[in-house]
Order: sequence, then C-alpha cells, then structure tokens
Amino acid sequence: MQPLKVFSVVPKLPEGLEGLWELAYNLWFSWNEEIAALFSQIDQQLWIESYRNPVWFLNHVPQRALETLAQDALYKSRLREAVARQRQYLSRPAYTLKGDEGGEGIRVVYFSLEYGISLCLPIYSGGLGILAGDHLKSASDLNVPLAAIGIAYQQGYFRQYMTPDGWQQERYPNYDFEQMPMRPALTPDGQPAVVHLDIGDRPLKARIWRVDVGRVPLYLLDTNIAENPPDFRQITERLYGGNNEMRLWQEMLIGIGGIKALQVLGISPKVIHMNEGHSAFAGLERVRLFMKEHGLSFEAAVEVAAAGSIFTTHTPVPAGNDRFAPDLMARYFEPYASDMGLAFKVFMALGREVPHDDSEPFCMPVLALRLSRFNNGVSKLHGRVSRNMWKRVWNQFPVEDVPIGALTNGVHAPTWVAPDIGLLYDRYLGSNWREDPDSSRAWSLVDTISDAELWRTHERLRARLVDFARMRLHRQLAAQGARRQDIQMAEEVLNPEALTIGFARRFATYKRANLLLQERDRLIRLVTSTDRPVQFIFAGKAHPQDQEGKQLMKELIALCRSRECRMSMVFLEDYDMEVASHLVSGCDIWLNNPRRPLEACGTSGMKAMLNGVMQFSTLDGWWDEAYRPDNSLGWAIGKGEEYEDPDYQDFVEVQTLYNILENDIIPDFYDRGHGGIPRTWVRRMKAALRELAPAFNSHRMVMDYAGTAYAPALHNFNELTQRDFAPARELSEWRMDIMTKWSMLQIRNVRAQQADTLHVGDALTVEAEILLNGIDPGHIRAEIYAGHLNQDNSFAHRELSPMQHVGQTDDGWQVFRGTTAPAEAGRYGFTVRVCPTHPRLADPHSLGLIRWAGV
Ligand SMILES: *Cc1c(COP(=O)(O)O)cnc(C)c1O
Repeated sequence: MQPLKVFSVVPKLPEGLEGLWELAYNLWFSWNEEIAALFSQIDQQLWIESYRNPVWFLNHVPQRALETLAQDALYKSRLREAVARQRQYLSRPAYTLKGDEGGEGIRVVYFSLEYGISLCLPIYSGGLGILAGDHLKSASDLNVPLAAIGIAYQQGYFRQYMTPDGWQQERYPNYDFEQMPMRPALTPDGQPAVVHLDIGDRPLKARIWRVDVGRVPLYLLDTNIAENPPDFRQITERLYGGNNEMRLWQEMLIGIGGIKALQVLGISPKVIHMNEGHSAFAGLERVRLFMKEHGLSFEAAVEVAAAGSIFTTHTPVPAGNDRFAPDLMARYFEPYASDMGLAFKVFMALGREVPHDDSEPFCMPVLALRLSRFNNGVSKLHGRVSRNMWKRVWNQFPVEDVPIGALTNGVHAPTWVAPDIGLLYDRYLGSNWREDPDSSRAWSLVDTISDAELWRTHERLRARLVDFARMRLHRQLAAQGARRQDIQMAEEVLNPEALTIGFARRFATYKRANLLLQERDRLIRLVTSTDRPVQFIFAGKAHPQDQEGKQLMKELIALCRSRECRMSMVFLEDYDMEVASHLVSGCDIWLNNPRRPLEACGTSGMKAMLNGVMQFSTLDGWWDEAYRPDNSLGWAIGKGEEYEDPDYQDFVEVQTLYNILENDIIPDFYDRGHGGIPRTWVRRMKAALRELAPAFNSHRMVMDYAGTAYAPALHNFNELTQRDFAPARELSEWRMDIMTKWSMLQIRNVRAQQADTLHVGDALTVEAEILLNGIDPGHIRAEIYAGHLNQDNSFAHRELSPMQHVGQTDDGWQVFRGTTAPAEAGRYGFTVRVCPTHPRLADPHSLGLIRWAGV
C-alpha cells in the first residue's frame, strides 16, 4: 500500500542551535575542521556512519542529545562564533579578474562530470573529480567569481567490496538528496529551476540542485523525475555507468543542459571552463545561442564562444577520450546541426581530427579544442604529450606550435593536510599556510619546526593510519563472513613503527598496481624482515567493466592474504576521500609507478607531500617537474625513459624500484640518531614542504587560471561582444577573407647576408619576399624559424624571430627582414614562415593556416 501523502519530519533544533542548519548546508565544513568538530562531537559514531553528512546527521541525532547540547553554554558560543565566521567568509568582496574592474556577478562557469568535494557527496570516481573539487574550494577561498555545473547521480559512483577470493563487487546505494547538503535551485523569481532540452526527438526535463561550496554555487542536474521516461531517468543514475549512447546523453545533459540551466538560473557567464572534453557540447550550445539571440553567423558565433572558453584535457590515453560513431551522432544531432544552419558533414567535422574523413567518429576533446582559445594539459610533460596527441588537428604546424599549453594541477591544502599536522603548521607557519598556501614565505618557515616535533606528529599520523586500517580490515573480514580468528587477526596487522608504503589509486592498467609483484621474492623478503620491517597499504577501485584491472587487484589481494604477507600487506576496500586522507597523511612513502607518460599529472602524491610524506615515483606527471636529481625532495624510479616494449620496461623499472628501496629508502628511514629521529629523512620532509608546497597546491593553480586564462578570455570576450558583436562579425569576415586568399600567398628569395660559417652569437640577417595576394601586411606575421639540426636535418630546437615589413619589390612582392643569432655551436639551419594574425584573435593558430618557405 502507498501512502496518500508524504511528509519529511525533521528534528526540532532547540533554541541556540539553529545555526547548525546554516553550517550543514554549506560544504565549507569539509575544509574547516572546527566546524566539522561541532557536528562530530555531538555523536562521533553517528558522524562517521553518516559519511560526514551534516544534513543526514542532524536528521538522525537523537532529540535527547540535542536537548543536552542546548544546555552547553560553551558549545553554543562556539557555534555562534562559527556561524559568524562563515557569514564573514561568505560576504568577503569578490576577487576582480584583471580587466573586469567594476564588473559584478558570476564571470566563469566550470563544467565537470565529477566533483570530489566531500565524503558525503559521492559524485566522483578519482583524480579528475578531486581536482574539480579542489578547484572549487580554492576558487571559493580566493573569491574568484565562479559557479559550477555537474550532475546529481542518484547512485553516485559504485561502492566497492570484495568476494572472499578478492574479486571486486560493486554496490550502488540509492542516495536520498533530501538528506544531503543540497537544495532545489531557484530561478531569480524564486521558482524551482528546471531545464528542458531535446534528446533526439524526445523532450527531457531536468531539475537542478544547488550545493554551496563555500562561496561557489555548484548546480547539479537531475533527470530522475516522474515526468521523464525510464531510460531518461537513468541519465543521472550513475557516474560512468551505461553504454556509449548513455554517455552521449549525459554529455548532452551537462553541456547543452548546463548552458540552458545557467539561463534559467539567471547566470550569464562570459567564460566557461570545460574540465575534460565531456562537457564540450556546452561550447556548441553557446554558439547556437549567440546565433539565435544576436543574429550572428555560425563563424562569428564561434569566435565569441571560443574567445570565452577554456578547455583542460586530462587524458593522454587515446582510448580514454570519448568518441561517438557517426550514425549515433546523426540520430541526435542532425536537427541540432540544421538548426544552426550547418550541413551535418560540416557539423561532424568539428569533432574530427581529419575534417573530411567521413568514417571518423566524433571526438569530444577535438570539439573542445576547436571551440576554445585556451587549451591546456595538466603538467608540463602532459602539455607536451597532448600537443603530440592532437597535432593532427593542426596538421600544418610543427608540434611545438600546437596551441595546447600546460598548467599544472594542485591540491587544496586545507582539505588534505591532516588536522594534527595542520595544528603544527599553525604554530610554526601561522595561519598563512591555510589562507595563502601558495606563499613561499609561509612554507619557508617549516625549517623552524623542531625535528622532534615534526617526526612525532608524523608518527602519530602513522599510528592513526594503522588503527584505521585495522578497523577497516576488521569490518571487511566480518562482512565477508571470515573465520573468527581471521577477524581477530585484523587487530594485530601492521606495525605502527614500521616503514609504511602507501599505494592507492584507480586500478587502471597504466598505473601498474602489480609492478611490485613482479619480484615476489624480494617483496616477501622486505615485508618479512624483523630488524627493518616494511609494510604496504593498498587501495583502489577498478572500473566495473575493466576485467584486467580486476584481475590485477585479485592477484594483489591474494598476496596480501598469503601467510607470509598478511601481517604487513593490507588491501583496504572502497577507496574514497576518507581512505585517501588517512593514507596520504599516515604513510612514510607514497609509491606511484605509472607507465610514463600516461599519468597526466597525478594529485595524490601532492596530498602526501603536504603531509610530509615522501614521494617514490616514476618521472611522470607532476613528479617529472618536481623531482630533483639529488633526491633532496624524494626519489625517482628511472630517469624518465620511455620504452617501446612494456614488458622490458616493467623488468627494468621493477629492478630499479627494489634497488632504491633496499639501498636508499630503507637505510635512511632506519638511520635513527638521538631521540630515535631519522635526521636525514626529516631534513627531506622539510625540504619537500618548503620547495613543493607553494607550487603544487590549488590556490596557485586557480590563480594561474585566473591570470593566464580567465582574465584574458574575459577581455577577449568583452572586446568581441561590444557594439552588438560588431567586432566578432568583423573578425569572422576577416577570417573568411584570409581563408580564401591564403592559398595564393607565396614566399620567394629567402636569403641570409652571412656566409656558410657563423660564430656563436653572430647576428644573421634574413630577408624574404612575400606575395600577399591582397592581404594587409599588418595581418600576417613573418618569422625566421631557426635552430640546431639533428642528423636528419630536422630541427632539434627552434627559435622564432619576428621579421619586419621593410619594402616592396618592383613586381609587387613585400620584403620582410629580421635577424637571428645561433646561441651555441653546431649544425644550424633556418627557414621562414608566415602565419595570419589579427589584434582581436587571441590565438592565431586557431585558423590552422601557415605557409613555409620552399614548400
Ligand atoms: C586524490 C585522489 C585520487 C587521485 O589519485 P592519483 O592517482 O594521484 O591521480 C583518486 N581517488 C581518490 C579517492 C583521491 O583522493
């Protein structure tokens, strides 16, 4: 029988405690330990059971506990202070993006399919989501005028548990949004906000939830409502669930639906930031709107949308990038394309590396690259890898000129620094490390921390990790129905004093969770040593369809359960932010051995670094730029080699891994001087904090985005949209004009005034004659492209020197001249090239036009 009517019954907060609701509905508590403590101290056990969800928690705390609390004057005054502090935090004036003086309201909207903000909001699977969460938190702390769009997954990402023989099982709890820190988002006139869009020829309706992440509003779309047919209700059921068609629907929802949601909410951003290609349809929908609302041509609308768009790519594995087959795309985008006045083939070309290849699927990152004038990878190395990966989109350019830059990720210090060590930092560094975690000044003070105190704090965190691991293992074994003596054994596993190595991440194959196992005897010797014991704690999820990942996990778990290893190797189930925060703060070594260069950045190592945990990693992602060859900040596996043969690579790298462990890491860790402190080790901890903490945190990252991406994008967007978009129209006409004239542009008579031999530093003057075919000489950029040569006469390095327009030949060719100078001895060569340029074009490469001398 169904009830006639349903009510929510909420507890009555006694007088003086109402402020708890205010704190509960802002995720600020997830990076403010004092606020979290106001909840946890009411009922520690219930708080943990709630997954640190203050709304569920307040709804479940026994009324009696609340009545008691209402008598506690000290608690109430702390609560009052916390509420006041939060209000003050929320009302701070916004940071002004450069060039936006006097501007108000949301300027930037961030799009991501996942967000890892708090344990209680399980809409993340791994690094991409955590990064998005940290981005929002730093944007909030820095008051960047930013909002965000995501999806409210009814079942989140799966929760992991294991069969007794170590095979991953997935559990999908249904979350009750009414019991989470989110509320229906409202339109400007106070109505619940809903979005309508078409998926093929069927209408889809989504409601919108609002989550407050400090000052940043995060809007989550939700299609699980009665008005939608069952298959559409599933669009927001699971993160990375479903088939390719479901993924396409999700991406239509976040991209097209996301832009529509902003309209409904009365938010009109100038800049959008697409975190990964999943949301690239947002760029397309903006193009469509600019066309509809301002009567722009497709080309002019693209100029505007792209000027105000940032795209961050994360996936150096080609298979990891979304691609949709042409017939699938046709089913959903034919009417959309014709609505924009585009032939379907032209539409498809937007998402193809080779535009006229009709068999090529539609690739989301390619669309995003074409619709953004600021594109970046997430570490320096990944920037290089991405330029290589997408060079076909700019097929006339040398790979260095592919317009994809690098902006290295960071992590949010107040979230990831464990409370104990945070208090230590408070005492020695002042609160600056929380408020300005990218300040070198603050972190340079780590040198003043006493060795003994730092080490003891670290040891306390290790002991806490060991307790946590025992508790979780106990729970795991009990859930599996293990034998009593095995469950009891869980209370004795691990040693709070032993060298502890953490390895936790998604079980993607390139991360090589099984590398250690390839030298099984050596591993067993280490973990069974009684004088210098070593122990490992593992965690991670494999994607439900990744059978290979699951197999690796099974082998690893089998070893953890073997008689030799069971006391010193533990696998913790259900890797999430809770497990992560214990691991990254309580280990001594953070081990990471991805197959270079497949780790775009990696952020868990940064979290570990912020807690004084040492890195031991292949030179991939961020570690490639953070590592120092003298090992003063941590250790590297290999020297950054890349191999053709993966088996051989594994063979070489596993030897290196054990050699360094045995010869360097273990001896250093157990080299105890006075008071049992490993002095060299502590020196390294401090050096890593001092040198790396200011750089690899998300405040630095968000400030970099604000300065190098958001502000210039905002500026260009404003420029193009002035005078009812006149500059955008002009720019697109100019582009069309250049496109038609370019093929006739020619270069001849390239000559240098010097002879065959040059001395280092000698100026070399180069002249060239260019036939412009009616193009304004101010609209081209002629350059000398010079540098040292490889054996095969290709350029090893290159330098670009501008050429000036200096005259005209009798037969109407324009003369350009410039100088260059070789900086070192060796075989040297040069050539000349010409690109179009326009003052309003942020990125001249976007035209894809270039002319090389002699070609
Ligand atoms: C930080 C974090 C990650 C990212 O890990 P990397 O392998 O370093 O990219 C994944 N999952 C969780 C739960 C995390 O906290």
